[in-house]
Amino acid sequence: MREEKEERGAQVIILFSLAALPAFRTGRRCLCPAWAGDTPRIHSQKKSGMSEIKANDPKLKSWVDVPAGSDFSIQNLPFGIFRTESQLPHVCCAIGEKLIDLKALHVMGYLENLPFALEDTVSDSLNRIMSYGKQNTRDLRNRVSKLLRTDMPDLREKEHHVRQVLFNQNEVQMLLPLKVGDYTDFYSSEDHARNVGMMFRDPAKALLPNWKHMPVGYHGRASSIVISGTEIIRPKGQMNASDDTLPTFGPTKQLDFELEVAFVTFDGKPLGQSISTAEADDFIFGMVLFNDWSARDIQRWEYVPLGPFLGKNFGSTISPWVVTLDALEPFRTEGAKQDPEVLPYLRYEGQKNFDINLEVGIKPTGAEETIVARSNYKYLYWNMAQQLAHHTVNGCNIRCGDMMASGTISGPTEGSRGSMLEIAWKGTQPVVMQDGSTRTFINDDDRVTMRGYAEKDGVRVGFGQCSGEVRAAL
Ligand code: MN
Repeated sequence: MREEKEERGAQVIILFSLAALPAFRTGRRCLCPAWAGDTPRIHSQKKSGMSEIKANDPKLKSWVDVPAGSDFSIQNLPFGIFRTESQLPHVCCAIGEKLIDLKALHVMGYLENLPFALEDTVSDSLNRIMSYGKQNTRDLRNRVSKLLRTDMPDLREKEHHVRQVLFNQNEVQMLLPLKVGDYTDFYSSEDHARNVGMMFRDPAKALLPNWKHMPVGYHGRASSIVISGTEIIRPKGQMNASDDTLPTFGPTKQLDFELEVAFVTFDGKPLGQSISTAEADDFIFGMVLFNDWSARDIQRWEYVPLGPFLGKNFGSTISPWVVTLDALEPFRTEGAKQDPEVLPYLRYEGQKNFDINLEVGIKPTGAEETIVARSNYKYLYWNMAQQLAHHTVNGCNIRCGDMMASGTISGPTEGSRGSMLEIAWKGTQPVVMQDGSTRTFINDDDRVTMRGYAEKDGVRVGFGQCSGEVRAAL
């Protein structure tokens, strides 16, 4: 049993350990235990039964100030986990430069008629909220939107409540928002795959024969996914520039970032069943910015035949706010034309790509940041629906909180390359920084920051920042 004392209220709430079984939860959620064989655990995934995404109305305005250019408009309301010095982690949503505490909203009764229990909002991850599936998390975001709208006085006019539910983002600590069970990294940008193929293999055969027939991916390491702001220690390992020499050991000399966006899943189907491209959206909660830190020299020596290993698993940084797929709906766009035609299980209908502007900056200690890449999520050849369909076509099960990263997102121009490997073309074209120094890879004490946002019809839906500073090898 653990205990939390309310910071500003008189109320003292005793909470039981959060190890409560899903079956004890109440509400509309399916109560079938996880071991109930092939009984579907999610009952509300059918499109026909889904409610409207009222929170996306571009006309909505909030009574909470949202500065011009803010990533966190009322049409966004991304989810995160925050804590203050005096209280346990709570679920929250971002609005402008504030966040709204969902636990406080729950205690005050503002989440009434939604299935979430109080302990779902007093959690160090969003997994409990996400375990209720697409429909319920959509309803939750719609409710938060309603409470923040200028034309809804329910919360706005109760100043003593407002004081308890709103926090300044710069006065709290944001935590890793998810318990990531499994992490998969795809390789879905054609420009990136082609650039890397040209550098490391035969330029005439830059893409391997399978590349245009499947979204190639590998299983990554979930334990080393860290929240923005976490220092990354330069990894050590084996390197060998040639197959004809002996390997050396030491700190990587080619530390790189990879500009990626990852999606996170709800519970999928039982082992043995597949998710189709048409069903995929209903199993995706939202997205985060993702820096797949890479040690190129370690990677090059180790990656054949089983793929990336120690060159990748020392750390991956994600942004603190999970932007829901619902919030990104208005930003759907056409994907690349896929030629040759893909196998039937990878075919899809409708717009499955998203127009999300992305950028990467490098800031040396005591100097200005230099933007080294501007790209866009829409450049991906393989979309999320295809990635999820491919991932599950063999019956592989996915679980609530799984993270699937896009792979480095490079665009068609030199300015849109998504890794230093490509930007400085394997070290041959150094980048000149604002302070006059040059980079071919990342130096100790450099801070790498990724940003991303979508914008349309005066509505901006952004991700905030995904940032990490590199420290010297131990
Ligand atoms: Mn990657």
